[in-house]
Amino acid sequence: MSQAPLSIHLDLAIIGGGVAGLWLANRAKSAGFSIALLESKALGSDQTLASQGMIHGGMKYTLAGALTGASEAIAEMPKHWRACLCGEGDVDLRHTRILSDHFFMWSGDDLSSKLTGFLASKITRGRIEPVREDRRPPLLRHPLFAGSLYRLEDIVIDTPSLIANLAHNIEGHCFQIDWSQAQLHKNADGIVSLNIATPEQPIEIHAQRFIFTAGKGNAELLQQLGLANPVMQLRPLQQVMVKHHHPFDFYGHCLGRETTPRLTISSHRLPDGSYIWYLGGSLAEKGASMAPEELIEQAKQELVELIPWANLTGARWATLPIERAEPLQPGLVRPDNAFIAQADGAANLLVGWPTKLTLAPNLANQALSLFDDAGITPSTNRINLHDYLPYAKLAKTPWELAFPPAMSAEEALARRLNITDEEGEPTEDDN
Ligand SMILES: Cc1cc2nc3c(=O)[nH]c(=O)nc-3n(C[C@H](O)[C@H](O)[C@H](O)COP(=O)(O)OP(=O)(O)OC[C@H]3O[C@@H](n4cnc5c(N)ncnc54)[C@H](O)[C@@H]3O)c2cc1C
Repeated sequence: MSQAPLSIHLDLAIIGGGVAGLWLANRAKSAGFSIALLESKALGSDQTLASQGMIHGGMKYTLAGALTGASEAIAEMPKHWRACLCGEGDVDLRHTRILSDHFFMWSGDDLSSKLTGFLASKITRGRIEPVREDRRPPLLRHPLFAGSLYRLEDIVIDTPSLIANLAHNIEGHCFQIDWSQAQLHKNADGIVSLNIATPEQPIEIHAQRFIFTAGKGNAELLQQLGLANPVMQLRPLQQVMVKHHHPFDFYGHCLGRETTPRLTISSHRLPDGSYIWYLGGSLAEKGASMAPEELIEQAKQELVELIPWANLTGARWATLPIERAEPLQPGLVRPDNAFIAQADGAANLLVGWPTKLTLAPNLANQALSLFDDAGITPSTNRINLHDYLPYAKLAKTPWELAFPPAMSAEEALARRLNITDEEGEPTEDDN
């Protein structure tokens, strides 16, 4: 006879552990809600760890020559994040590494892009300033550099440390879900619940609100429930990763003639300390449908054209095809704001896409307002789901996956500690 499921009542069941789900879970836990975050792969998978980590005030959206809704909506976000990074905001991010407290915008030598840069600097109320020749970053401190250069007072964060920080703040609340053993249900009143066949016993999760923050996975979750709205759009990209020996970190956008930066460069490190340049912008948008080798060739040409003095001899190259998941916009344009809304046909389900890493705080604010409007308050239910589900792990970065270490961390440690192998033979390095 099959065992009757154990009913578990939570305030909030958050599905998807990228920045959106984790930030919301942090805010909700601080507000006293009983929460569980359910992740199907590993925390930070998909977009968050693949992002360039730029927490920006929307400056790059002024490239069209006018302040758009997007630039207005996110203008305050860097300040919000800075407060969190100092431990003075609504989420404690004191363990998140800041890779850079600024980034650059530079334009080529041609008149049109210089003009775009000039316009951007004029209309953005002091959030951008021209950089004097003697203040240029090392990468652009070369006699051949002849463009215009601006410095933006925005920040770049290390996304793996962000995810670890957010997960640590809500330790004991992030679980792994295996959808081959789980099923969402919706009853005749539109109330969603979740059944999971755990090794111990089947459980049935009920929540005042389910919140889908699964990025690209939201569409499939909605489909499981037979729901059509809100509708998602995917914007494909193919980023380029360069593992090189150039000793300079650089964070910046190179402006071209278009309104999207021609090239965006962010810098990251592998655990062994080697350097990665991560290339996005128009290169990644236009390269989305290219074969990896073709795009790598294109990236090499771009770098030769834009920073011909950078010696990339011996560099290793890889690409990352990835999609940005967002709420559907007319003409597939970039949405202006974080989005979270009730799903049509489900009474206790919200679906959200932050649309930018930068806007995760905005999504959480909107969600908490929606709970407030619906009269949802913290209950006294406290349940340890770990009796039934394993904890979710942290994901690896795309560059860790693209350039795996020649030896595992354990092997490297053994070498360093001069440990012998099982047969008592010294390891290779000991000879
Ligand atoms: C290449 C690139 C560069 C970017 N750079 C920037 C930038 O510099 N600055 C900026 O502000 N924004 C940037 N963005 C946008 C930003 O990364 C995203 O808007 C943001 O990370 C989305 O977060 P999310 O939590 O909604 O989704 P995701 O980060 O995609 O996370 C979704 C999570 O849900 C999980 N999941 C999926 N399906 C399921 C399921 N069925 N059940 C349970 N879990 C599930 C996934 O495994 C994942 O962990 C960039 C995006 C890309 C692709």
